[in-house]
Amino acid sequence: MNRVLLHTCCAPCSGAIIEWMLANGYTPTIYYCNPNIYPYEEYLIRKEECTRYATGLGLEIVDADYDHAAWQCCIAGLEGEPERGARCLECFRMRLLSAARYASEHGFKTFTSTLDSSRWKRHDQIVEAGQWAAAQFPGLTFWDKNWRQGGLQERRSEIIREQDFYNQRYCGCEFSMQAMHDDKKMARQRIKRLISVMTPKQKAEQSAAVWERLEQNDAFRKATDILAYWSMDDEVQTPAFIEKWTTVGKRFYLPSIQGDDLIVKRYKGTLKPGEQFGIPEPDGEQVSDLSPITLILVPGRAFDAQGNRMGRGRGFYDRLLPQLPNAIKAGVCFDCQKLPSVPTDENDIKMDFVI
Ligand code: SF4
Repeated sequence: MNRVLLHTCCAPCSGAIIEWMLANGYTPTIYYCNPNIYPYEEYLIRKEECTRYATGLGLEIVDADYDHAAWQCCIAGLEGEPERGARCLECFRMRLLSAARYASEHGFKTFTSTLDSSRWKRHDQIVEAGQWAAAQFPGLTFWDKNWRQGGLQERRSEIIREQDFYNQRYCGCEFSMQAMHDDKKMARQRIKRLISVMTPKQKAEQSAAVWERLEQNDAFRKATDILAYWSMDDEVQTPAFIEKWTTVGKRFYLPSIQGDDLIVKRYKGTLKPGEQFGIPEPDGEQVSDLSPITLILVPGRAFDAQGNRMGRGRGFYDRLLPQLPNAIKAGVCFDCQKLPSVPTDENDIKMDFVI
């Protein structure tokens, strides 16, 4: 068997290439080096899919470090380049140089990359970067086979379905996310997936950090009446925070779903399952005078630094928030829900700040 170091970007791009190598007398060692991927949760999903597939075939997988800051330095000045342009060439150079170094230090004569199987990449740029990287280490060759040809593109799609791979919708870096974010449905699916890989400990820690930041905020310090929400499993957790501040005199209100709308009820320590999704809500009357509420804690699927918010798609908050025109609106989310930009339309209401 011929040993080959196979730089791997993700499971969907790897499946057909690995299968072809094994069928043709090559034993690939998988080298996972992709510090370009943003955010970190997305990186973990892609790495776990690769690891699952490679180890299932009995292959060795080498996990190179994730250093997104170093990657950002490598592409500095090229952030605004279009996809398949100069930024991508530098991105390939960085990853393939790392693979070449590992190959040289571990006795491989040949290395190649699954980057070539993706429709988001240019074959000529990958070959240029691979040959440049190989030239840094005497005796090393970059295998410049076009991995989209010979039926491998078709087999790629079949394996994705057979293995039920997570099939990402953007190349990897934050600059390649924009096209995906223009599609709200796709963005919601992706955020859902990112939150699903967070552990209960990560959720608890990030929730605590959110509330610490809010407690430093003037709008919170001055507020006596706050419209919050009772969190679901995929939201920043509110119960302990609400209990803590209720005991020192702040008054909380919670939304309650009635048909297609949210109404507001005062929280007095007891809750009952809600009518539509079973979300706990106060067991009392609707509050008709909302004027004492000066702060609203608004959950959402995603936010950006300009205060744009993307909800779950039912428009509940888009209809509720105009009823409280003078209250300050604080977007509440986990780190992975903060995007470079969020697609908006005329119904979306901006947050005053995102915690
Ligand atoms: S678009 Fe893809 S190849 Fe280009 S810089 Fe971003 S992650 Fe790298």
